[in-house]
Amino acid sequence: MDIFCQIAQGSIPSHKVYEDDQVIAFFDIAPTSYGHTLVVPKQHCDSFLDCPPELLSHMMEVAQKLANKLMDHLNCDGINILSNAKEAAGQSVPHFHIHLIPRYEDSPKDL
Ligand code: 5GP
Repeated sequence: MDIFCQIAQGSIPSHKVYEDDQVIAFFDIAPTSYGHTLVVPKQHCDSFLDCPPELLSHMMEVAQKLANKLMDHLNCDGINILSNAKEAAGQSVPHFHIHLIPRYEDSPKDL
């Protein structure tokens, strides 16, 4: 079972910032910037490419809400929203996830 399935089931700990019946979101263990968050479906999908459309639509709604919360609460100046699909594109965890990466004008972009 992949690491995000285990986090979704609660058998591996994470710093959770959101959860509902279909989706979990938690801070990235190796953040690109302060507040780097991952939005993950509880149901296993390999990547964006095979995520059922209704679930994808819900994921995007959650990602938008969380992106606005990060903007408000972290006082960041912008945010990257991205998903790597397949190893050749940089995907390292074989379970679909959306990265939310806050960006700050007056501080280093990377931690
Ligand atoms: P990818 O490279 O697949 O687009 O992104 C995977 C992300 O998952 C990476 O940014 C990596 O730091 C993060 N990650 C990998 N393992 C864990 C983990 O066990 N816990 C958390 N919170 N993040 C993880």
